[in-house]
Amino acid sequence: MATAVEATPRNIPTPRIRQTQCFIGGQWVPAQSGKTFETINPATEEVLASVAEGDAADVDLAVQAARKAFESGDWPKMDARDRGRLIARLADLIEEEKEELAALESLDNGKPIRDALNADLPLTIDCLRYYAGYADKIHGQTIPIRGNYFCYTRKEPVGVVGQIIPWNFPMLMVAWKWGPALAAGCTIVMKPAEQTPLTCLRMARLAQKAGFPDGVINVIPGFGPTAGAAIVRHPGIDKIAFTGSTETAQIIMREAAPTLKRITFELGGKSPNIVFSDADFDAAIAGAHFGLYFNQGQCCCAGSRLFVEESIYQPFVDRLVELNRKRKLGDPLDPTTEQGPQVDQAQFDKIMHYIELGRKEGATCLTGGKRYGSRGYYIEPTLFVDVRDDMAIARDEIFGPVMSVLKFRSLDEIAQRANNTTYGLAAAVWTRDIAKAHALAAKLRAGTVWINCYDVFDAAAPFGGYKMSGQGRELGEEGLKAYLETKTVTVALDRQ
Ligand code: NAP
Ligand code: MG
Repeated sequence: MATAVEATPRNIPTPRIRQTQCFIGGQWVPAQSGKTFETINPATEEVLASVAEGDAADVDLAVQAARKAFESGDWPKMDARDRGRLIARLADLIEEEKEELAALESLDNGKPIRDALNADLPLTIDCLRYYAGYADKIHGQTIPIRGNYFCYTRKEPVGVVGQIIPWNFPMLMVAWKWGPALAAGCTIVMKPAEQTPLTCLRMARLAQKAGFPDGVINVIPGFGPTAGAAIVRHPGIDKIAFTGSTETAQIIMREAAPTLKRITFELGGKSPNIVFSDADFDAAIAGAHFGLYFNQGQCCCAGSRLFVEESIYQPFVDRLVELNRKRKLGDPLDPTTEQGPQVDQAQFDKIMHYIELGRKEGATCLTGGKRYGSRGYYIEPTLFVDVRDDMAIARDEIFGPVMSVLKFRSLDEIAQRANNTTYGLAAAVWTRDIAKAHALAAKLRAGTVWINCYDVFDAAAPFGGYKMSGQGRELGEEGLKAYLETKTVTVALDRQ
């Protein structure tokens, strides 16, 4: 996700935490229950702020506000072009505050400020601008049918959408969800992740400043089993867009069944990153390192199964070890820091558990494998060799800085092994042989295949999973369609 040009963080203002309440119908309000929860700085384990803990009662109010905004008032009357201008205005306001927003993201999530500035913020702004441009280009077709009829389709917003997002790219996930929903003319009830509510709430404030009518965007911070579940069950919500774990998606699918909501899912992965001996060695090394350790390994598309062709396996591993030893861990707000802490204690424990399992199952840990420092949820960049395909570290999504390097010998073997997973989010191939690259790209059962690159994201390029990695696509035109219904209108042309 890194952009080619690395901006040097400068004049980073100390972020102020201003929004900590629920945002419902254009008002900032405490949770009905009066409860709050703490969001912490994962680098210091200190409390950053107490945030309103919304639950079913608050979700109900938010749904009422979103329904009202969807059905009456300025939003449904607004020209599509003006809707687009509001989204573009939101992107401009984010850009004006991008240093402070990056710092706020870094504080709440633990990601290095340079990643927040070079990846999260530009991608967030770009995504909103991309969908701003779509708002006035949504239209149906005229369809020739049998008989004397005029038949046409209308593309209409799906309605009130419930959006539930994770903590790994908090702002960017807001943009991926709000951009297409707003361009389509939907209204929103969003629940940010409990670990990282702060930038989502700040974006709601900026949306208010941009001039979105009250009730178009509502944000309920809180927990999954309470606030999240209430969104999923609410009969006033027409669609759920969810990014997070496959296990939670299974719960959501069950809970959404009684109301038969539309659903889009962007879930986990165990993505194969495949390096052939004829690849550009240095580029592949950089891509393998970045493809796994970026964002502390907390990426749904992390290249966590690194397959290296036998003849270059050893020199490849040697270089990876070297890079891991040089990787700079530290204060996320220090512009030279490359790796920050994991997001919370639970993720830290889960990752350490997998490291332990890797050792127990007989893999060899060449770097890391332990905590870094004594404060904050830091884990050293960890690299395992002697990994078999059936080991837990090669099968399960770890969501941390843990790389498994596996060896392969032939094209047929690798296609089969790469696909031998319940996931299918992303994959990458490194080779100079263009025919081999395309042949493998066609065989891989994954929603995204990168060739000689990794983590290249663009608002225009669809992203999502095969198999248990998701349902539907986000971004691009397909991402917009997920927020539209098609209405067929047929008019008799015979004189009555
Ligand atoms: P998660 O439980 O799937 O959380 C994602 C979002 O869903 C959060 O907002 C969460 O609320 C909410 N949620 C949880 N239970 C819910 C329920 N019953 N109904 C409705 N919403 C619910 O993921 P996690 O616990 O943060 O992370 C666990 C694992 O998921 C990670 O280790 C990783 O493997 C995977 N993960 C994948 C992605 C991705 O981008 N694909 C992102 C994050 C995590 P809370 O605020 O209470 O958590
Ligand atoms: Mg936090």
